[in-house]
Amino acid sequence: MSGLAAGIRLALFGHKVLILERHNAPGGLNSFYSFDGRKFDVGLHAVTNYVEKGVKGTPLGKLFRQLRIRREDFGLCPQMGSRVSFPGIDLRFTNDVAVLQSEIEREFPRQIDNFRQLVREIETHDPFRLDDIETSARETVARFITDPLLLDMLFCPLMYYGSAREMDMDFGQFAIMFKSIYLEGFARPFDGVRRIIRVLLARYRDLGGERKMKCGVRKIHTSNGRAHELLLDDGQTITADHVLSSIGRVETERLCDDLPPESGKANIGRLSFIETINIFDRQPAELGWEDTIIFFNDHERFIYARPEDLVDPRSGVICFPNNYQYGSGQTLAEGVFRVTCMADFDGWSALHETEYRAAKKIWHEKLAHKAMEFLKPVPPKTLDDCTIYRDMFTPRTIKKYTGHLGGAVYGASEKVKNGHTHLQNLYLCGTDQGFLGIIGAMLSGISMANYHILRKT
Ligand SMILES: Cc1cc2nc3c(=O)[nH]c(=O)nc-3n(C[C@H](O)[C@H](O)[C@H](O)COP(=O)(O)OP(=O)(O)OC[C@H]3O[C@@H](n4cnc5c(N)ncnc54)[C@H](O)[C@@H]3O)c2cc1C
Repeated sequence: MSGLAAGIRLALFGHKVLILERHNAPGGLNSFYSFDGRKFDVGLHAVTNYVEKGVKGTPLGKLFRQLRIRREDFGLCPQMGSRVSFPGIDLRFTNDVAVLQSEIEREFPRQIDNFRQLVREIETHDPFRLDDIETSARETVARFITDPLLLDMLFCPLMYYGSAREMDMDFGQFAIMFKSIYLEGFARPFDGVRRIIRVLLARYRDLGGERKMKCGVRKIHTSNGRAHELLLDDGQTITADHVLSSIGRVETERLCDDLPPESGKANIGRLSFIETINIFDRQPAELGWEDTIIFFNDHERFIYARPEDLVDPRSGVICFPNNYQYGSGQTLAEGVFRVTCMADFDGWSALHETEYRAAKKIWHEKLAHKAMEFLKPVPPKTLDDCTIYRDMFTPRTIKKYTGHLGGAVYGASEKVKNGHTHLQNLYLCGTDQGFLGIIGAMLSGISMANYHILRKT
């Protein structure tokens, strides 16, 4: 997503651009695939940052303006409503922050003024500054929210949807996520992420941008502190004035011939996920399940860290892609039930093939059971009655298809906000530059193209 956005931005200003992609499908961490005649999104739960048409000064508006894309082209449909569910307490939220405010007023009456102050603080914060120093979000937010339970509940969705750090976030990143989820909101195109990718590809192609699929960069030859030449998987070499890399910080460093092939080990991200997908023969709403997304936690504290076991089922995310306001009577053909939990990359990678398959089966069951505890109304004894198909991915799948070391969806815990690398004409964009998620990745591609290339030319 960041690569495509950067490519469009540069092509718009007449640059000759080539996008190199190792996979055969576009989209990276947020791609799509077909299996047994069914179409699946790899990752899409929600497009964040959704605001109604006409709301000015938001990241979504900036994105459409900078890429010269019409808002209608993404076909974004707003969520029905989501929830943070902790033991004995639920906080509902929608794309209208007033709903969350009234929930906090009901459940945490002593905290409501503090929450309003926090909102004011976040509204005035500019998290997209490229020279910001990282500070602890837990410490900063605790100055406003003094109830540890509410603190954990507010952090849970923000960490699941955008924290590369265990247990804490940078306050700038917290502010980005807070705005994008609580003050703006969730949406989804009816056709899923393929609609967004189709629009980006068409825009890029119309501007004369070139792509080479199934052809990764194998090596970056350096000379005099510059990326001098790229060696591609097919043996060709190419040169470029500027190289933007969206593959990750350590992954990029390891391609450079002036650095050791094992460099940057300490910067490999530790957080990865498992996701199970059940396809139902009916709409979730027919079973009474109308939430779009449920962020759950059944532990006394919310622990966001790489688990010691293969998976930590104590907290996670449930998503029903059916539960968006698609309009004109449109409904997805089948029910989709996705459950995401934190997982240990090393543990999954150490399994032999038969153990791996067995572990997948066991954890699929366990996650379904765990998720059922948070569904309202209470589900039937098992989901087998309505499930007609199952699939899942593990941290190993993420590494295999995207090349992200450690299967780290949110990349390294230390970001490089200005995108600089040790080479003058090689820059980072996307996950390890620091703007996360689909919208974040696209804004990252735009900002890095503007900052490093267009500003100078
Ligand atoms: C399961 C899952 C669910 C998610 N859900 C959401 C969601 O609901 N909402 C949301 O906003 N975000 C979500 N995200 C996060 C979001 O997908 C990512 O933050 C975003 O897509 C990252 O984009 P990127 O451009 O930074 O990097 P990537 O998507 O990682 O792109 C990097 C690309 O580089 C390619 N590559 C790797 N090595 C090479 C090489 N040597 N040469 C050439 N190409 C190479 C990879 O194949 C890949 O296509 C989810 C992610 C996952 C994994």
